[in-house]
Amino acid sequence: MEGYCITCQKIIAMKDVKAKTLKNQDKVYEGKCEACDTVIYKKRGN
Ligand SMILES: [Zn+2]
Repeated sequence: MEGYCITCQKIIAMKDVKAKTLKNQDKVYEGKCEACDTVIYKKRGN
């Protein structure tokens, strides 16, 4: 899976991806940038 890393400022592969629901009820995937370990959230569609 890929997501946008704000540190690398580009779309990059995510590692350790988990499905999660945020406090505001947004359903997301949470993972880490494979290059710099910044946490990346990506919305889960229906
Ligand atoms: Zn990064």
